[in-house]
Amino acid sequence: MCYIGGSALQKCNGCKNQFRWKELLFSIWKSYSPIECSHCGKRHTISSVSKFIVSFLILVPAVVFGLLIAPEQGLSKPVTFFLIVLMAFVISIFLPLFVKYEYKKGS
Ligand SMILES: [Zn+2]
Repeated sequence: MCYIGGSALQKCNGCKNQFRWKELLFSIWKSYSPIECSHCGKRHTISSVSKFIVSFLILVPAVVFGLLIAPEQGLSKPVTFFLIVLMAFVISIFLPLFVKYEYKKGS
């Protein structure tokens, strides 16, 4: 995490303060709530491309698993649902690597 965190994570567009993994992850979990830079206080909102990527990375595996893999394995609906939630959770942990935030003036 230190290795990845040092290079690929989003930085503040104002002061180049590195956002933390936790901040980015919580923002995604709270349905893309804006991130305020802890250093300069500028608000950053997730880019629409990132929203698309996040939805894609969570939905596609969920759909493939739910419609193809689970029925083939004979999994019951509650088990399938649980595994999809678990999968989405695990995938979301890596999402801070893919998302980009933009600083919007006046927001
Ligand atoms: Zn800043």
